[in-house]
Amino acid sequence: MPNARATCPSCQGEKLPSHYLCLTCWRKIPEATRKALNRRDAAAFRRLSDLREQLRRNVPLNEIQVTP
Ligand SMILES: [Zn+2]
Repeated sequence: MPNARATCPSCQGEKLPSHYLCLTCWRKIPEATRKALNRRDAAAFRRLSDLREQLRRNVPLNEIQVTP
């Protein structure tokens, strides 16, 4: 059985492989950002890139914004 562990890019804690962040970090980002990230449309990949870029620059979780 594969051991599907994944690391949260923000806190380095454990997260579910299908999630971008662990639940603790996910709850810290603005609701509008969470809603946008949950939308699956043509801009979905762009939003994920926006999120990753901001995590890399250490933008505080509560200030992260993505393409609407
Ligand atoms: Zn985390």
